[in-house]
Amino acid sequence: MAYHILLIEDDANIRSFAATILQSNGFSVTACETATQGLKFFNEKRPDLIIVDIGLPDGSGIDVCRVTRTGVGPFVPVIFLTAKGDLPTRLAAFEAGAQDYVQKPFAIEELLARVKVHLKVKQSQDELARRNYDLEILHRVQQDLSDMIVHDLKAPLTSIKGTLDIIKSRGLIGEETYKSLLSNAGEAADFMLLMVNDILDIGRSEQRALPVELSSVSVETMMTKLKSLFAPTCQRKTIRILSTIDPQIKTLTTDANLFFRILVNLTSNAVKFSPKGQDTEITGSKINQRARFSVSDRGPGVPPHLKNHIFDKYAVGHAQSAAESSGTGIGLAFCRLAVTTLGGNILVEDRPGGGSRFTFELEAK
Ligand code: CA
Repeated sequence: MAYHILLIEDDANIRSFAATILQSNGFSVTACETATQGLKFFNEKRPDLIIVDIGLPDGSGIDVCRVTRTGVGPFVPVIFLTAKGDLPTRLAAFEAGAQDYVQKPFAIEELLARVKVHLKVKQSQDELARRNYDLEILHRVQQDLSDMIVHDLKAPLTSIKGTLDIIKSRGLIGEETYKSLLSNAGEAADFMLLMVNDILDIGRSEQRALPVELSSVSVETMMTKLKSLFAPTCQRKTIRILSTIDPQIKTLTTDANLFFRILVNLTSNAVKFSPKGQDTEITGSKINQRARFSVSDRGPGVPPHLKNHIFDKYAVGHAQSAAESSGTGIGLAFCRLAVTTLGGNILVEDRPGGGSRFTFELEAK
């Protein structure tokens, strides 16, 4: 299909000369006399390229160019025709978004050469835009699909967890060994639910902000809940979760659910990486009107090349070994998202004496 060129030129001789040459070179040409006619055609037909004179009876070619740069639609290169030596006008036209100029009087070979170059550039840009668009659609479909799957995992998981809780609470299983197996299964279901919620929240945050519900939260109650959640793991690894909370931050005005899940994710990592018998420590202090919480372990620590990426979504891609990747999944990405949503920040550093320390600060209200 022939490229369509819009030619806007009020000089009848130049107009018909240029149109004839372009047509004889295989282009389809619409020739207009005024800016108004040119823009009308542009809006209705969207040509592949525009050649526009600067001085038109009803306005300037620069304004025509500027108008074509607003709105959506494929990119259309603009070449303008200008009198020799008029530098300020040329600069103004480039500023308005033009790609090139040809000085009058011009050699037709030069005009043709420039037209061909810019059509070629346009072709590659259109191709790129098309590919980007296709990729974006594909990405969205994949994202929607994975969100849907993760979302659908929630119901059966909740049911498993509920069933385990019923068996446990009604004392349907008496033998100690089975009881502890039941606890393990319950704990695993809890963590899977936590991960499912983290993934869903991160997915949601890419579309809109995480919902926040502020209430007065007892930090001590959170610590008790946390310790009981990890009790089976701690027992297995003969470690303890020790907490020291500054009385000044006994209660916080924050989102209880997000706050707890930040603590759970950080503690989960700490407990996972702690060697047998090495306690995990949680401290809470008040510093400059902010509540600062640290979760420290005596694990292998975070390698330097991971420190900048560990809170990224899919940070696992930066890990250099399976051992590194096992602690850098979606949980830390959720932590940063939740902390940021609550107006704070989070970082990881080496713990003096070995291990890592994750610290986050929230407003102390
Ligand atoms: Ca003119």
